[in-house]
Amino acid sequence: MIVFGTRGRVIAGPQIDGVVCDSCGEHTHTAFGVLRYFHIFWIPVFPTQKQAGIECQHCKRTLVDKEVPTHLIAKIRDRVFAKKTVAPMFTGLIVIAALIAGGAYMAEETKRQEAAYLTSPMANDYYIVNFTKIFDDATSEYPYGIIKVTSVNGDQVEMLISQYSYNIVRGASEAISSREADKPDYYVAEAVQLSVSDLEALKAEGAIHSIKRR
Ligand SMILES: [Zn+2]
Repeated sequence: MIVFGTRGRVIAGPQIDGVVCDSCGEHTHTAFGVLRYFHIFWIPVFPTQKQAGIECQHCKRTLVDKEVPTHLIAKIRDRVFAKKTVAPMFTGLIVIAALIAGGAYMAEETKRQEAAYLTSPMANDYYIVNFTKIFDDATSEYPYGIIKVTSVNGDQVEMLISQYSYNIVRGASEAISSREADKPDYYVAEAVQLSVSDLEALKAEGAIHSIKRR
């Protein structure tokens, strides 16, 4: 569950003299600001609203936004919404930007690593593949399966094809991480021979979803 919404914060401002209170006739008010911000899990992401206000020090009557005498609004806003008060309201935005940049970096890193795996295959590399893009008779309901490298001899790669297939990629990746895919009877008995350029062609056709190496 993601918790998000807007919250408000009241920021104390300077004393304002010379405004007569409509209720009690006193002359001293305290300025304040109301800063509303959008939050995700209570971490401020960006400010949504900034309002200036004044409160009578005697009777506590408050005037907010348009009720505040026009000549005071800019002055109050400058004081209460200073950079150091408003900047932390963007914390979440910075966190989100960092997460996106980190994710993009990881994706790029995985791509680079898989390209390296593809050009120099090793025994026990696991290819999560889309069978429907390799075999004409593959079932489209369970398209994902595993092809495992058993040995490499120069450019020739000997591989085993799983007899099991999955409706989602995660099914195949869990079979690898749980070592289910290590069992000999997980695969069809006959090995297949492919060259590195065959593998690169399969990758280019989108038949290879990802490559895992332990
Ligand atoms: Zn008053």
